[in-house]
Amino acid sequence: MSFIKRIVVTGGAGFLGSHLCERLVEAGHDVICVDNFFTSQKSNVAHLLSRPNFELLRHDIIHPLWLECDQIYNLACPAAPGHYQFNPVKTMKTSVMGAINMLGMAKRCRATFLQASTSEVYGDPEVHPQPETYRGNVNPLGPRACYDEGKRAAESLVMDYQRMHRMRVKIVRIFNTYGPRMHPFDGRVVSNFIRQALAGEDITLFGDGSQTRSFCFRDDLIDGLICMMETEQDSAGQALIGPINLGNPHEFTIRQLAELVIELTGSKSQLVWEPLPEDDPKQRRPDITLARRELGWEPKIALREGLARTIAWFRTINLGDYRPPTPNY
Ligand code: NAD
Ligand code: UDP
Repeated sequence: MSFIKRIVVTGGAGFLGSHLCERLVEAGHDVICVDNFFTSQKSNVAHLLSRPNFELLRHDIIHPLWLECDQIYNLACPAAPGHYQFNPVKTMKTSVMGAINMLGMAKRCRATFLQASTSEVYGDPEVHPQPETYRGNVNPLGPRACYDEGKRAAESLVMDYQRMHRMRVKIVRIFNTYGPRMHPFDGRVVSNFIRQALAGEDITLFGDGSQTRSFCFRDDLIDGLICMMETEQDSAGQALIGPINLGNPHEFTIRQLAELVIELTGSKSQLVWEPLPEDDPKQRRPDITLARRELGWEPKIALREGLARTIAWFRTINLGDYRPPTPNY
């Protein structure tokens, strides 16, 4: 039997957070969404505001927060390169001070804490695909470091709190995830390509487009997050802490992605080449052996289907309703 829980979702108004809140509200839980709206807007959760088991709190997690809860999903952090590089010091503060504040809250409430980490902890990986045991190849000095190193530090904090205070904690490393409600101006590759294709604008390939990513549809990812939170023990009977990779193991070049977006939108857009950003990882694909074994989880939605659903959503939105939060779009 599963009981109703009070659940805090930081970053709950964002792309992934809003879908997670939706799923938890539907399941009957008492959900508190905490967000400062840096990269999101209230419209992402407006449809939940009338629900008696949903509450929205405008709060910046670099400041302490005093709530009572059973679970915390810590998702608050700008995730797109253009967003996290807009104010890199703030990005680091959000990852590190935010994790300390939310772990402190979890400790006081004896809540289970789940950290949304990232495949960026592997940097520009020399091991392919990336298993959780790989320690990564991150440039600590480059423009992606505020995010990569911030998330690595947050993982360290999670483990230190767990060892010091015997808390129930979990770490998931999320690989590129896309879907409806992505910020249309976040500068990420899927949102850029779809926006450009629908407007008939040039599609911007950074570098020669041979770099790879593995794209996970948001519904699969949300299933994985909830499954991780709800799975107490691993197959050896130990507390399931992770880190566990969550992502789709099917790998595509960025050029293949562009061609698929053009095909699915029926666009006449042309491909144009722009310089590859500094430290842009050349390849990325999750090894999800652990998630398959410990969670019985694997993605079900293929890129073609997920992209079609995302394109259908992009066709319905009014771009004027979205505030470009950074100049990088
Ligand atoms: P997003 O930008 O849509 O969501 C992040 C949310 O956090 C936004 O609503 C933003 O306003 C909020 N936020 C940022 N700083 C905050 C602060 N200091 N206090 C309170 N709220 C704050 O991005 P997303 O794609 O939904 O990512 C959610 C989480 O998942 C992030 O932690 C990200 O690092 C992680 N992740 C996402 C992906 C992906 O491909 N989508 C991949 C790896 C990791
Ligand atoms: N990219 C691109 N054109 C764009 C946006 C991104 O070619 O308009 C490339 C980017 O250089 C990277 C990949 O697409 O190699 C994925 O970029 P994104 O910003 O979505 O996420 P990342 O995985 O790099 O964090």
